[in-house]
Amino acid sequence: MPTSVIPFLASDAATTANWVAALQAALPEQRIVAFSTLSETEKKAVRIAIVANPEPAQLQQLPQLQWVHSVWAGVERLLQEAGPQAWPLVRLLDPQLAATMAEAVLAWTLYLHREMPAYARQQRQGLWQARPYRSAGSQTIGLLGLGALGAAAARSLLAAGFKVAGWSRETKQISGVRCFAGAAELPLLLAQTNILVCLLPLTAATRDLLDASMLRQLPTGASLINFARGAIVVDQDLRAALDDGHLSHAVLDVFRSEPLPAEAWQWQHPAVSVLPHCSAPTDRASAAAIVAATIRQYHADGSLPATVDRALGY
Ligand code: NAP
Repeated sequence: MPTSVIPFLASDAATTANWVAALQAALPEQRIVAFSTLSETEKKAVRIAIVANPEPAQLQQLPQLQWVHSVWAGVERLLQEAGPQAWPLVRLLDPQLAATMAEAVLAWTLYLHREMPAYARQQRQGLWQARPYRSAGSQTIGLLGLGALGAAAARSLLAAGFKVAGWSRETKQISGVRCFAGAAELPLLLAQTNILVCLLPLTAATRDLLDASMLRQLPTGASLINFARGAIVVDQDLRAALDDGHLSHAVLDVFRSEPLPAEAWQWQHPAVSVLPHCSAPTDRASAAAIVAATIRQYHADGSLPATVDRALGY
């Protein structure tokens, strides 16, 4: 296989430099370069591009592009802004990423379950008061999304002793998990959930999904962890549910605007934990090895792993 030029596209130069180095090490037989260094002649020859949250319009400068590999699991911006080309899009499916997300889900579920926000409040008040203990087995964690990340999170929550319910588009069978599917069954999951964990992709069907009517179906005192995308939650409806005590706490890793603007209400809200989109960063070395294997397989027999369904948006 002759060496070809494979550009890497990201939103900033430092990210690009680190990824180019990791990908070049994993794929020494190809030439991995920053998109910004491509000549006009090279752009016309590019057939594969690797991206991490790029400016989607840049891909339109590659007339021979055949497919794109994302090193991010979430690809909604690429789908929305890449223009009319329908090249296949492979997103990152990395067991290491799923393990990292499962760890984050367990960590923040335990934070809420063991009432750390309430004890922090009590400490600030100088209040020495044990709160009633609830066992993990008495609590249901409701997972929105049972894909690569949701299924891994379910396993770690079950191992920690929680009851786990999950919701997906199509019906699933996962040992130990009460599975619900489709819009009609979402209320059944919400009604029995103590901690709701969002691991859905952002699509036309999930945008603004968690509005007042959904959040109010959670039992009083329930909490929310959003590790998926900010636009799945209607911020003002969440704020109202926290303000009137219907929800006790929200752990938010993702926002409609990132970085979260300094004036955003979430920073100061006593019932919100703000995280800087850090719940499951891609592991560069493991992701580069996965991308390299995908490209080698493609060069060997022309096959690609499952690609993103453009109609569904994930
Ligand atoms: P995935 O494997 O594609 O799984 C998506 C899950 O959501 C599937 O179970 C799918 O149902 C379900 N789903 C999609 N649309 C639905 C709908 N309309 N109604 C009900 N269920 C629906 O995705 P993943 O790899 O687990 O990643 C999920 C998301 O996590 C990504 O899209 C990304 O936005 C986010 N993420 C965040 C971070 C972070 O650091 N915060 C890191 C990585 C990823 P089916 O199983 O029936 O298809």
